[in-house]
Amino acid sequence: MQLQENVSLAALTTFKIGGPARFFVEARSLADVQQTVAFAQSRNLQLFVLGGGSNLLVSDSGWPGLVLKLGISGIERTPVEHEGKILFEVGAGESWDRFVSHAVVAHCAGVECLSGIPGSVGGTPVQNVGAYGQEVSETIASVVVFDRKDGQVRELCAEACGFGYRSSIFNTTERERFIILRVNFALQPGGEPRLEYADLKRHFEGHEVRPNLAETREAVRYIRGGKGMLIMEGDPDSCSAGSFFKNPVLTEAEHRDLEGRAAAKALSVPSYPALTQHRKVSAAWLVEKSGFSRGYSAGHVGISTRHTLAIVNRGGATAAEVLELKDQIQQRVEEIWGVRLEPEPVFVGMEAG
Ligand SMILES: Cc1cc2nc3c(=O)[nH]c(=O)nc-3n(C[C@H](O)[C@H](O)[C@H](O)COP(=O)(O)OP(=O)(O)OC[C@H]3O[C@@H](n4cnc5c(N)ncnc54)[C@H](O)[C@@H]3O)c2cc1C
Repeated sequence: MQLQENVSLAALTTFKIGGPARFFVEARSLADVQQTVAFAQSRNLQLFVLGGGSNLLVSDSGWPGLVLKLGISGIERTPVEHEGKILFEVGAGESWDRFVSHAVVAHCAGVECLSGIPGSVGGTPVQNVGAYGQEVSETIASVVVFDRKDGQVRELCAEACGFGYRSSIFNTTERERFIILRVNFALQPGGEPRLEYADLKRHFEGHEVRPNLAETREAVRYIRGGKGMLIMEGDPDSCSAGSFFKNPVLTEAEHRDLEGRAAAKALSVPSYPALTQHRKVSAAWLVEKSGFSRGYSAGHVGISTRHTLAIVNRGGATAAEVLELKDQIQQRVEEIWGVRLEPEPVFVGMEAG
């Protein structure tokens, strides 16, 4: 285990914001994780587990304890079959998009629509990442974790992870308990790509031959690139944590109230069914119809010029500025539409909601 001190966290996040970590370790093995946790306990240091830093807003004062970055790598295709599917064991520190590319090259379906999402493999179960009609929970067979409660390594099956919309036990009931070491995926060999999402269908309109996995991956990356949702050197719109707000899931009564408010303005709310007797509403629509459109600027922060839900660092932004804009958006949306938007990124070293 290699212990470093006062390591800048800004450079380790896609937002490029945040102060230093008092202590920092990159763990490349289970032994590193065990030693690091023991060190933090012996010094009574608060531990924060870092993946690819793509879903974080780190406080300007940084993290007073120890940051453990998962650096466990490796993608292994196992000879084991799981209900006719091929199992891949992937280290938590692997790049997620590298794994997707690997799966597509191996002609295995199940994660192609999740192409271009930044961050690590270990970060994906935490909020059950999803995009373009797929969620990672659909292909996760199990998650191997280090349990901070008793120091044991456990393998949690998908059901035990309690996956929901942008949620799992890792960011709700068992938050901070487990360090994800490895994720096991069951992918369909020779499977067809999932082409259900409107943007994807539109992209392939007029094509006579059904696109394959590789073409679908490229299409997803192309569409994401057009929205500033692909991390690209020199693209100011990708200096963000992705979507800053979750799509609110409303009860039928809350949805009727929202529809009433929209009808009074001669508008109709984009929404679709979710859970039983609930509706998921477009957070982007709510933000835009509250006066925050693409390209909106406030000091060093603003809204992406190509995606209403992405708060971006326009250069030299502080976490305090991001929080101020977040609060303004939440307040305005609540005043006008009666809906409280919930942030998607994790706040590190500060209380916010
Ligand atoms: C441009 C852009 C586009 C994005 N698009 C999408 C999208 O389409 N869909 C989507 O769902 N998300 C999207 N995101 C958000 C983000 O990429 C995902 O949530 C990603 O899975 C986060 O992984 P990470 O490794 O970067 O985690 P981090 O940001 O490092 O951490 C996020 C949380 O996970 C925890 N964590 C990370 N690794 C581990 C581990 N090994 N063990 C335990 N806990 C861990 C951290 O403690 C923290 O609580 C986007 C972000 C950006 C910047």
